[in-house]
Amino acid sequence: MHGRQPSPRFWTSVSSLLLTRVLGVQSSRFIGIRQWCYNGKAYFRNSTPMSLTPNEGRRRIQESGSTWDASAKVGRNTWKGKSIRGGVQLLGKRGVQANLNFYARRLQECVQAKSLAEGKKVHDHMRSAQFEPDIYLNNMLISMYSKCGSIEDANNVFQSMEDKDVVSWNAMISGYALHGRGQEAVDLFYQMQREGLKPNQNSFISILSACQTPIVLEFGEQIHSHITKAGYESDVNVSTALINMYCKCGSLELARKVFNEMRERNVVSWTAMISGYVQHGDSKEAFVLFQKLIRSGTQPNKVSFASILGACTNPNDLEQGLKLHAYIKQAGLEQEVLVGNALISMYARCGSLANARQVFDNLRSPNRVSWNAMIAGYGEGFMEEAFRLFRDMQQKGFQPDRFTYASLLAICADRADLNRGKELHSQIVRTAWEADVTVATALISMYAKCGSLEEARKVFNQMPEKNAVSWNAFIACCCRHGSEKEAFQVFKQMRRDDVIPDHVTFITLLNSCTSPEDFERGRYIHGKIDQWGMLSNNLVANALISMYGRCGKLADAREVFYRIRRRDLGSWNAMIAAYVQHGANGSAFDLFIKYKSEGGKGDKYTFINVLRAIANLEDLDAGRKIHGLVEKAGLEKDIRILTTLIKMYSKCGSLRDAYSVFKNVQEKDVVCWNAMLAAYNHSDHGQDALKLFQQMRLEGVNPDSATYTSVLNACARLGAIEHGKKFHTQLKEAAMETDTRVSNALIEMYSRCGCLSSANEVFEKMSRRNTNSWNALIAGYCQNGQGNVALEYYEHMLRARISPNKATFTSILSSYAQLGEEEQAFDFLESIKEEWNMEPSEQHYACMVAALGRASLLKEAEEFIEEISSESDALMWESLLVACRIHHNVGLAETAVEHLLDVKAQSSPAVCEQLMNIYAAAGRWEDVSVIKATMREAGLLAPKSCTIEVNSEFHTFMTNHFSPQIGVEDKIEELVWKMMDKGFLLDPHYAPNDSREKERLFSHCPELLAVAYGLEHTPPGVLVRCVTDSPVTDPSHRMLKFISKAYNRGIFVRDPNCFHNFKDGICSCGDYW
Ligand SMILES: [Zn+2]
Repeated sequence: MHGRQPSPRFWTSVSSLLLTRVLGVQSSRFIGIRQWCYNGKAYFRNSTPMSLTPNEGRRRIQESGSTWDASAKVGRNTWKGKSIRGGVQLLGKRGVQANLNFYARRLQECVQAKSLAEGKKVHDHMRSAQFEPDIYLNNMLISMYSKCGSIEDANNVFQSMEDKDVVSWNAMISGYALHGRGQEAVDLFYQMQREGLKPNQNSFISILSACQTPIVLEFGEQIHSHITKAGYESDVNVSTALINMYCKCGSLELARKVFNEMRERNVVSWTAMISGYVQHGDSKEAFVLFQKLIRSGTQPNKVSFASILGACTNPNDLEQGLKLHAYIKQAGLEQEVLVGNALISMYARCGSLANARQVFDNLRSPNRVSWNAMIAGYGEGFMEEAFRLFRDMQQKGFQPDRFTYASLLAICADRADLNRGKELHSQIVRTAWEADVTVATALISMYAKCGSLEEARKVFNQMPEKNAVSWNAFIACCCRHGSEKEAFQVFKQMRRDDVIPDHVTFITLLNSCTSPEDFERGRYIHGKIDQWGMLSNNLVANALISMYGRCGKLADAREVFYRIRRRDLGSWNAMIAAYVQHGANGSAFDLFIKYKSEGGKGDKYTFINVLRAIANLEDLDAGRKIHGLVEKAGLEKDIRILTTLIKMYSKCGSLRDAYSVFKNVQEKDVVCWNAMLAAYNHSDHGQDALKLFQQMRLEGVNPDSATYTSVLNACARLGAIEHGKKFHTQLKEAAMETDTRVSNALIEMYSRCGCLSSANEVFEKMSRRNTNSWNALIAGYCQNGQGNVALEYYEHMLRARISPNKATFTSILSSYAQLGEEEQAFDFLESIKEEWNMEPSEQHYACMVAALGRASLLKEAEEFIEEISSESDALMWESLLVACRIHHNVGLAETAVEHLLDVKAQSSPAVCEQLMNIYAAAGRWEDVSVIKATMREAGLLAPKSCTIEVNSEFHTFMTNHFSPQIGVEDKIEELVWKMMDKGFLLDPHYAPNDSREKERLFSHCPELLAVAYGLEHTPPGVLVRCVTDSPVTDPSHRMLKFISKAYNRGIFVRDPNCFHNFKDGICSCGDYW
């Protein structure tokens, strides 16, 4: 600070922030548990004592690292209040000369006993004995008062002193720091220098302990440069205090730099650094450092063990935990209650409750912390045990404290057990703990999670004292219950009550902005964040990026991203995710490359997002490279990554890669199975999807609604109504039928199988319908040739105030086309723009062409296409080509094909097929042969196939290849004879001179073979249902109509363009497809 005075504004903001935040204000990370520890006094806020250990560790580090607490090193356990009483009694006895040493010893004893009352007695005795304390004794008085809880008395002593030395200042500074009054500490630190005193090591250590939040990092850095200038950097205690400060301010990098540059380290410095890593969740680095500590020959102490045990956070770390436990036994520290408590919490986190309990039971003198650790360890999974222990604890004479109640309330919250929570609440009221800010906050969270906003509000309003954590809890509660407005009101009230919002407040509010409609709110919070200078907190900045991402404001997200001073992994992840969310896949991938080039390693979220981007880019090569990086990063066993890989490979068109990833997944969860099912659907391997589903059931995995949606989609594609009905039954049994997504899939399945009555039944039973539900039903009616019903349902949809979308419009336009109402179609097309404010799509225009085509207005249709003259008008020309086929307009058909060949560089087989049919219908067999030859040369003459499901088995018939099923050939012959008998005549158009061509007519139409098989293998009265992969040909269509009448059977044939319901010699398509 030499030479540069900070601006008053800087101080105002630092001061207000310090005041509220440093004073025991939890700065909880989102996950929930956080404690605030301040020089031996631990403030736990809204916490599960699970992570008691590292905090306790940190406390000890500070005790041993700072001088004013040196006396506290004398174990408190050995202290019995007796000697102090003896001491004060002695004071009253005559003949005992109270001298400086005597008072000093008494004061020291008061500090150890943390007894303000006794301390005051000693002070009073001095006054009544008119004993003038010297600087040394005054300093001790300051220290005693501040440590025993009365900073005011300490300040009175300090102010009354005529001569102050650096120790006096230090004692007062550390007192303020201890009481969380950072601003006063800072002010005093500078006042001391103005009064000509040079700060020494202890001054720096004291002032550094006042810097405990990320917000004051800049200030901490200033003190650091101060220290460097004063030449105290090589002091091991000062360096350790610096490490502590940087760790608490969230800058591990700077802490590590100090640590690495230390010439001499003691166990406290090592432990401080290890603890820093543990606090920031970097267990890996903490373990590495602990190994180094051991190799350095330094003996870890109980604090080191308590800290490193905090690095074992999940069941994967159990092995490490067991090793540490063995080491602790060896070091003979097992009975240390601090270590024991840390062991209990460690085992609980690692999921080994039996071990935790064993440690607990073996502890010779468990303290309240031990009980709390064990209760918290039981957690929601063992609620009854936790409550039993709670009763035992009270029987053994341990009074529950705020942590006990907070743990139990958290358990009730997780179990959403409102009754238990209320019982506990009444006990809390009886024991007068309700006014405690931690307990009240836990009550709010409990009520929030148990669904009672009302009760939460009551508790909140009745709190005598609120801190930022309580405000945060209530804000989160409002957001959780969907009252974001109230959350904002509370936020504003918080400000009016002069409570400084912390990063949790902002993150909670940001996370409540989930869609573009919330953008204004999000921007308002951004303003507040800037106002409070909170953007320097990466958690806040990253949440801000994510918020802008969700609200669709990529530019704003990017701006925040580039404003971050020290970007961390979370910042990169947030930005990449935002890009992916909005389809800026290329940018997402580029950013990932940039991140890698800056030496970033990435975690699973990075890879998941990048893989999503690649899937959307359909870049198989890049996908394979990232797969390699995933393996390199050792993440190839992570189920979420594997599932994302399956999705990526499927979208990039490599079903084989997708399956080979899937095959190697060790323990597949339902999400993983769903990904593979979707992959099969994506590549149109419906039958494989159904087989996979069976395998999934055999392996005992329970399908969820997404699974059923997938298999129902497969059934819809395959026209597999028998399978579909079975799934429908299963869904009814599992009571999953009412799921909107599943219902929509059922409607689609039934209607794509031509079974509208069942589709309708599902629709009518739905309790909640969305746009997709209506679309599925409307499209079903339209495709099955009931355009008038489709239009009726559209009216219903509008009356139900469900907004239509582009898919709805396509169905409506097709319905008008089908009904031959080209004028209405045209009006409707106009209304898409005017009423719905949407740009009609290519598909909508193609429907319009079809409407004109149906009405024999071919010229108008052509003009319409020219007028639209869109860049991608292929669909419209294809639509016109169909019209030409129906109306035998060869000339226009050739124009259309020319256009199509222009648009699509590669002539599609479907277009050639259409033209061939048009030539055949016109009797231009030579042209047919030419096209056929060309197609054969180009390898476009793919076999056609048609699939029919009989008795839940699939039978596929290919052109020119009879399947070996018995009776089909006979059936075909019988069919032909029967048709001839009933007077079926081949269309003269289709009477080529070559008689063999005529014979082959049947075998060219796989749908005829499938229908023949169906007639043979299904009982009369059952609809014959098949799905073909190429449009039904003209002669085949005529024959199917004839068969439906001659055999008196309903026939359903679905081709890629149209659904044909044949009945009594008529097709639902009205002979237009
Ligand atoms: Zn038809």
